[in-house]
Amino acid sequence: MIPLARPALGAEEEQAVTAVLRSGRLSLGPALEEFERMFAARLGVAHASAVSSGTAALHLALRAVGVREGDEVITSPFSFVASANAVIYQRARPVFADIDPVTLNLSPEAAEACVTERTSALLPVHIFGAPAELSAFERIAQRHCLAIVEDACEALGAIHGDGVPVGGRGHPAAFGFYANKQLTTGEGGMIALADGTLKQRIDSERNQGRAPDMGWLDHDRLGFNYRLSDIACAIGIAQLRKLDGMLAARAALAALYIDALSGIEELTLPCSDRNGDRRSWFVFVVQLPKRVDRDAVVRELAVRGIESKPYLPAIHLMSFYRERFGHREGELPVCEDVASRSLALPFFPQMSEGEVARVAQELGSVVGGCR
Ligand SMILES: *Cc1c(COP(=O)(O)O)cnc(C)c1O
Repeated sequence: MIPLARPALGAEEEQAVTAVLRSGRLSLGPALEEFERMFAARLGVAHASAVSSGTAALHLALRAVGVREGDEVITSPFSFVASANAVIYQRARPVFADIDPVTLNLSPEAAEACVTERTSALLPVHIFGAPAELSAFERIAQRHCLAIVEDACEALGAIHGDGVPVGGRGHPAAFGFYANKQLTTGEGGMIALADGTLKQRIDSERNQGRAPDMGWLDHDRLGFNYRLSDIACAIGIAQLRKLDGMLAARAALAALYIDALSGIEELTLPCSDRNGDRRSWFVFVVQLPKRVDRDAVVRELAVRGIESKPYLPAIHLMSFYRERFGHREGELPVCEDVASRSLALPFFPQMSEGEVARVAQELGSVVGGCR
């Protein structure tokens, strides 16, 4: 079976983990500081705070910019559910605006149309590693006095058209290091940001609200246990050192896929980069022709030894969101159309050219046969 994803781990990660185990400093130790320093330097931001997951990063970032109970946060319905869930953790309401049919990212125009007096923040998602239109969101935020938190969990390595790395603009930007991400620590996350005061608050809140200058067990605010262990940080450091190679391997595979799949009629391939933006390839997602039964394609590919998955479902149509907020089909037509046709194919740095060719060939024959 060719899997959807597989992490690229080797001797470097093993050695890094062993060194931490031997050091006896398993948490809040030197690997944490080094991982944060290297990560911030890579993005060209002043600060980074490592946390236990991308979801924790989103939650602390939203708290840091002041999202509170009763607020509205405008975000994308075409995302992993964590981006909207983090808003609900703050007892705020995720307000979904429709996406751009080409980039699949939150549409700035649609987002601005959703601004009300309750809106406190914009939460654009760089979906599938394609840079969201941050300069447009920055103008909207300025016009309406809103904060910005970026969900960059799928976009480590992406670059905006103006040359700034995704997550490097200074707004709190959340990254995730789950095993299928461009960089993994098993579980883990990071908040990149410019503001040192916010970094202090985040560092305190990831550690039960302990102030940096306070003694052991002295806590001056509500916090969480969102710490990332030094074991995980050591894996992250090793992964950061080889990130460029892993990103290049992903980009090369994406080019092979695009070439091999371009002959399949009516299949929508991932968009090419626009306006000087550079995508970081996270997943390889195609949109099937409307006439094709996607579940049948998934079953047929599985029979042929290829894993695939509908990706992503629309968040507002998930049962919890329907029940809690009364969402219905038809509210966000672009997102719903894309979500109903999207299919993720196997995609990971160590995938071989032959495997790409095999997936492309089988997909062609299955899609042709599933009319
Ligand atoms: C992976 C991901 C997250 C965070 O996931 P965790 O599993 O909590 O690390 C958040 N948003 C998006 C868009 C993601 O892809």
